[in-house]
Amino acid sequence: MDKYQVLSKYFGYSTFREGQERLIDALLSGKDVMGVMPTGAGKSVCFQVPALMMKGITVVVSPLISLMKDQVNALQQCGINSAYINTSLSKEERLDIMRKALAGYYKIIYVAPERLSSEKFYSFCSKLDISMVCVDEAHCVSQWGHDFRPAYLNIKAFIESLERRPVVSAFTATATRRVREDIISLIGLYEPERVVTGFDRKNLYFEVIRPADKDIALKRYLDLFSGRSGIVYCSSRKRVEELYSMLSEEKYSVTKYHAGLDKNERQLNQELFIKDEKEVVIATNAFGMGIDKSNVSFVIHYNMPGDIESYYQEAGRAGRDGSAADCILLYGGRDVAIQKYFIENPEENESLTDEQRNQVRKLKLDKLDRMIEYSSGKYCLRHYILQYFGEAVTGRCDNCSSCNGSAESVDVTTQAQKIFSCIKRVKEKETAETVADILKGIESDYIVTKGLNTVKTFGAMNDSARSQILLHIDYFYDHGYIDRDTKGRLLLEKKSEAVLFSGKRIRRPVQKTERKQNRASVDIRLFSALKVLRKELAKKSSLPDFIIFTDLTLRQMATVKPVSEKEFLLIEGVTAEKYKKYGPFFLNIIKKHSADKIEKAE
Ligand code: ADP
Repeated sequence: MDKYQVLSKYFGYSTFREGQERLIDALLSGKDVMGVMPTGAGKSVCFQVPALMMKGITVVVSPLISLMKDQVNALQQCGINSAYINTSLSKEERLDIMRKALAGYYKIIYVAPERLSSEKFYSFCSKLDISMVCVDEAHCVSQWGHDFRPAYLNIKAFIESLERRPVVSAFTATATRRVREDIISLIGLYEPERVVTGFDRKNLYFEVIRPADKDIALKRYLDLFSGRSGIVYCSSRKRVEELYSMLSEEKYSVTKYHAGLDKNERQLNQELFIKDEKEVVIATNAFGMGIDKSNVSFVIHYNMPGDIESYYQEAGRAGRDGSAADCILLYGGRDVAIQKYFIENPEENESLTDEQRNQVRKLKLDKLDRMIEYSSGKYCLRHYILQYFGEAVTGRCDNCSSCNGSAESVDVTTQAQKIFSCIKRVKEKETAETVADILKGIESDYIVTKGLNTVKTFGAMNDSARSQILLHIDYFYDHGYIDRDTKGRLLLEKKSEAVLFSGKRIRRPVQKTERKQNRASVDIRLFSALKVLRKELAKKSSLPDFIIFTDLTLRQMATVKPVSEKEFLLIEGVTAEKYKKYGPFFLNIIKKHSADKIEKAE
């Protein structure tokens, strides 16, 4: 089988993405490689395809148990024999896997770096025919990376100790030069083929807002993104807890994750999120490195991170399946002060001299300045990031909140008049949420008790989504038409009078997050039905939903509506193996759905 056949048979894809082929070809010709690609670019395929084509076994060094588990799950679904050896297994399980490996059963095994220095493991490896050692998340070898893991320093000695040197591949999404140099020397790559792909993730939309109240803004986004899977990052455990309490009390589908939770709870919460039983995880940056959840479709930063590398890595966890995804940063409040505090009070690192410590501090302050500049929203957000990573880009991207301002705008005068007049008519000042409820015509206890349902504008915007009304209010606040008192209650600014009384019009830019995504050709009802089926199948086999098929694959099914095996196999992400396991169930639903439609039409 050639590489194209392997890609199609095991992974269900018809073409390689940028960089993949070059890396695969180099490995197949026996050359070491270093692949630097952004999160979601498809690094795994780069070592998995050659691993399947080489004679012996590939050993993948991976930093996290959850990452190994996910990858092995995914490989098994594609019909590839693979396993991991780590502390989550019992001794018997480990021995069983080792026996099978020696019998040549596996093509790929995953191990943690710590294991490489164990004698037992070494003697096991010396009996294997290892064709490749692959180092995933290779930046962990560098002190200059943001996830230094000392055990990664064992890798070089391990490779050198093997009787026959296998080809070595290293992959990372961290692009700074220093880290790249460390990867080559500390892992001992020999004249590697270096592939650094473009860092642009075209399917990601970037937005920065400076909300008056981050909690309210967050809830608005969650309303807007309801039904989608997302991550909310905060800078402290305390904040995670606070937001989690607030949101779960208000019945949002949320779970939480941070290093202060005990291991079992962390594990459980992560599973709830991965299996789509909770839509959103509220987390610190402890969450994510091992997570390959391809249907994460938004990442909101409640706090600004300390540097662009961290931001892009975390935001980049959205949209891995290639569908349009949103990356939102809520900037303001104490964000800068918090990051400065982290820099001035670093974790003790005794291996550094005073001078080095000072250097690190300066480096971090510079990085923070760049992050603040990004957050100011003065520049095209995408291009700012790409330039930061050394790409020569100019002009505007038209897919971020800075660019959209100039790209499209709508007349919102009528909405402004209704909102301003509502604020004027209530006797006492009310919060944005209450004003939105009045305009939407919601008869809550509060509104009825206070008689606000008799205000003349009650229900005047009942055809708009409540979250939309709140977004309008935010915009008018941002632009000086409305003010808030310390309790968040609204009052009108002088500027609003011209709109109410002198016919002044207001146009405002449309944020991409508000635009209905263009899914005209996707049959939404069918898409939902397919999702329900996927959930059932996933439950039965105790797998995360997206391992069965990703959202992107389901969306294609709901667009193309295949009716035969042949047509079904043409959908991106469908392999023969997966067809055998799941295809008939999905075909059944698609056929039934089409028949229902015809019947209704008649
Ligand atoms: P990374 O490790 O670089 O973050 P992954 O290896 O997890 O990214 O790949 C991200 C997603 O892209 C996965 O769902 C993967 O199956 C998909 N993918 C990889 N290569 C291709 C390809 N050639 N065509 C289509 N999808 C691909």
